[in-house]
Amino acid sequence: MRLVFLGAPGVGKGTQAEKIAVQYGIAKISTGDLLREAVRAQTALGKDAKSYMDQGKLVPDSVVIGLVRDKLSEPGCAGGFVLDGFPRTVPQAEELGKVLSQKSIRLDRVINFQVSREDVVKRLSGRRSCPKCQATFHVDFAPPKASDRCDRCGDGLVQRSDDKREAIETRLKVYEEQTAPLIDYYDRQGVLTHLDGGGAVENVYQALTKVLTPYKKA
Ligand code: AMP
Repeated sequence: MRLVFLGAPGVGKGTQAEKIAVQYGIAKISTGDLLREAVRAQTALGKDAKSYMDQGKLVPDSVVIGLVRDKLSEPGCAGGFVLDGFPRTVPQAEELGKVLSQKSIRLDRVINFQVSREDVVKRLSGRRSCPKCQATFHVDFAPPKASDRCDRCGDGLVQRSDDKREAIETRLKVYEEQTAPLIDYYDRQGVLTHLDGGGAVENVYQALTKVLTPYKKA
């Protein structure tokens, strides 16, 4: 199964990608996670990417495309993958198309998660994450047992710098201008399904697995 999860920041793509990757035994490729890893490891790429990310802007296409190309060549992706947060621009989508056709494979489905702007802002501004084990929580919807401490490893929770108000506004604007055109792009290719991403994680997951069942390989 080869999938792309599209949608504005905060629609829950990452959460659903995580679950789908486990359920179908495929690789989850999240460019946001790969970039945050590079920032933490203070690699040259991470140092370059950090200022774009902190402001909520997109990291240049060439950087992200290189990361995804390398990842797709790893043996772990041979059995299928779900791309979370990539592509985010038309040039990225075109490049992905080229990489896949070189490998003689195609996307099975692109899922466009839809959530109201108001809910997206609530989800992002209340999100907290653990810098040590990367577990995520939400102050209202999924609060940690002890406030500000990770349930899993006990480390102090933090708010991602790009989940602060100003960066959220920038990310949503960037999404509208640069990523939303991909909805039409994939619709024209006949691989797009819209999915209501509002509501509880489990309900969205049930609806998602229903959509994906016909594409499950024997
Ligand atoms: P995410 O975790 O997917 O919300 O991504 C966090 C940040 O990483 C974004 O706001 C961008 O700065 C950067 N990023 C992630 N994926 C991409 C991408 N495909 N193209 C450019 N920048 C990206």
